[in-house]
Amino acid sequence: MSGNNKYDAIVVGAGVGGLSVGSLLAKEGLQVLILEQADRVGGRALSIKGSEISENGLEWYKTLLASQYSYLAGSEPEIKTMIKKRMLAGYTLDIGYHAISANGAGYMYDFEVLIGGIGDLKKHGGHWGSHYKGNIYQDIAGNYIDPELYRISREEGIPYLDFYTDCGMMTDEQIDKLEKVSLQEWAEKKGIVKNDIIYNHLHAVSTLFSTINNPEDISVGDIFHYFKNAFGPKAQTGLLKYTGGFIEGGVMEWSKAVAARFASFGGTLKTNTRVNRITTRDGKVTGVMVDGKNGGQEQFESEIVISNIPAQQTFKVIDKSHFPEQWASATEKMYGYGSYAPYMGLNKLVMPEKESRLGLKNTCVLPKEEGFDYDVYICWNIQSVLDQSVAPEGKYLYTAYLPMTEKESLNKEMVNKLVNRLPDFMEEIYPGFKESIDWKLDIVCWKLEGIAKSVSQPGTRKIPVKSEYVDGLYFAGDTAKGSGVAMDCAIASGVICAGEVLGKDFGIR
Ligand SMILES: Cc1cc2nc3c(=O)[nH]c(=O)nc-3n(C[C@H](O)[C@H](O)[C@H](O)COP(=O)(O)OP(=O)(O)OC[C@H]3O[C@@H](n4cnc5c(N)ncnc54)[C@H](O)[C@@H]3O)c2cc1C
Repeated sequence: MSGNNKYDAIVVGAGVGGLSVGSLLAKEGLQVLILEQADRVGGRALSIKGSEISENGLEWYKTLLASQYSYLAGSEPEIKTMIKKRMLAGYTLDIGYHAISANGAGYMYDFEVLIGGIGDLKKHGGHWGSHYKGNIYQDIAGNYIDPELYRISREEGIPYLDFYTDCGMMTDEQIDKLEKVSLQEWAEKKGIVKNDIIYNHLHAVSTLFSTINNPEDISVGDIFHYFKNAFGPKAQTGLLKYTGGFIEGGVMEWSKAVAARFASFGGTLKTNTRVNRITTRDGKVTGVMVDGKNGGQEQFESEIVISNIPAQQTFKVIDKSHFPEQWASATEKMYGYGSYAPYMGLNKLVMPEKESRLGLKNTCVLPKEEGFDYDVYICWNIQSVLDQSVAPEGKYLYTAYLPMTEKESLNKEMVNKLVNRLPDFMEEIYPGFKESIDWKLDIVCWKLEGIAKSVSQPGTRKIPVKSEYVDGLYFAGDTAKGSGVAMDCAIASGVICAGEVLGKDFGIR
């Protein structure tokens, strides 16, 4: 069914979730239209060239950040000086820290296989670890187990490996029950808390997967679903080599590659096109209205509309009266997680070469006594050591993320505490670090994770991909049903959503 403004399916938003569902549907032969309000694809998985900031100016940069729930909390030197001196030339800045889980071997891989590959896009894999009391303990990657963690677990009888292997022996229904169990509760029952090194390490890994600082709030079931379904099938095949990685040239390159695939399937993508209304008749969707030229409107028709807009903002485009009051209010109240995500341009590396290649995590940059919900964690990388294309020759790009609740992210005083603390924290670990900083940009985002994977709202408790209340209305993105790390979760929900539309099982739960 296609002609003029009629499509088989319309997707509102070209974020990772919208592109995933749109390209799968297009590959299956549907005439699909994706409408994106921004001038580029990728949504929150956005990359900006340093030179773009100098060319387009500060206001452009601030507006772009704001469109993805982020703002500039500070900089060294002053941002105007950085722009004038073109200090960011040659750098590529993802919006905040933007690593890909398992170097794309999770749901990203499954999805890429489903659409027949995405060309020759490069991913640069790396190993991650936890930094605790001056020592480094490496995360499990492929068959590699940190020898010291293994020794402690054997000598003290701490079932460290259960965190990774229990899910393989459980059914999805059994894991569903663990969704309401926190990491802390699970680790206490297992006796893992008896050893602080192992407990701290698993806490750091769990925060990496969930973006939540507080182990009493992290849903262990959400992580287990992810391990079982995204990683389980690859555990034996050698695909699971790395803990993380970066997309060459910035995270947005992935979305651009998927958009190119979508176009090759005959899909239509319109950027700079904001949907102002999902239209309905007799409880069924009929299409969308978009902002047109000279204040007018344009209509696109379809019996299937998929919203990739973060769920809490659904009612900006569709009337609340279509949904039960309780459902609408619960959806609006679902909370995400934010972060302080600094970038630094470094003129030298002051750490041993091996450590410069690691993604390192520490569970306490500032303690909760400073007024935070919980001790603030950090994960940092010298991103340009893994992907040299993101920094000019002879320079290095440091990126990090320090999770904060949505409320903390919007509180300047709390943000400033972290901004002020970070250089000292790094200096304590690597003397000389402060001197190696050419410039620093302090970005804060209040919606890194659309819906936090906490015990009260884990994967299967998020909004379903198919609306129960409006016929033909679907949802895809990190706020719709799906487990795992943010981008992977958005991809998973896109695949689950395509399966619902087509009545097909793509093997992702
Ligand atoms: C600072 C930061 C750091 C992050 N770090 C990581 C990381 O290290 N690893 C990781 O896996 N994930 C990370 N994430 C999270 C990841 O980027 C998101 O989970 C993922 O990109 C969400 O994709 P989505 O499709 O659900 O939503 P979005 O990206 O929000 O996409 C929604 C799209 O809809 C568009 N839209 C909204 N309203 C309309 C409308 N009315 N009309 C048309 N279009 C509309 C938006 O412009 C957007 O393009 C990070 C996010 C941020 C912000």
